[in-house]
Amino acid sequence: MKTWSREFNVSTRKHCEVVDVTDKVLAAVRESGIRNGLLLVLLPHATATLVLNEDEGGLKQDLLNKLDGLVPQQGNYQHDRIDDNAHAHLKSALFSSPLVLPIIDGRLVRGTWQNFLLIEADGPRNRRMVVFAMGE
Ligand code: ZN
Repeated sequence: MKTWSREFNVSTRKHCEVVDVTDKVLAAVRESGIRNGLLLVLLPHATATLVLNEDEGGLKQDLLNKLDGLVPQQGNYQHDRIDDNAHAHLKSALFSSPLVLPIIDGRLVRGTWQNFLLIEADGPRNRRMVVFAMGE
């Protein structure tokens, strides 16, 4: 069995935004040379996360609006006593990470509308994204 990994940098430009990183992930699958196995994608951060969903402008704004509704930027947050970004941690904590998907016959298995979307909740920042593949 072969393993392969690579780290990417993603620069976000706004305080909160959704960035499609699918091209990077698909390039990594090709570069890995793995035809059958598993792909793991991790965003090693506590105030940004990754989800699989549709890269459509309205939906991305809906997602940000809903997150703002669930976790307003201002609130009675304990963490804000030491670091003024509790809302970003809480938004990130709503989603599990890393994402794990199968690679079959050289193709990443995912739904037609499942793109890799990075959700930035405390930007702008440089974010790291780790892609790890294992298989044959
Ligand atoms: Zn913090």
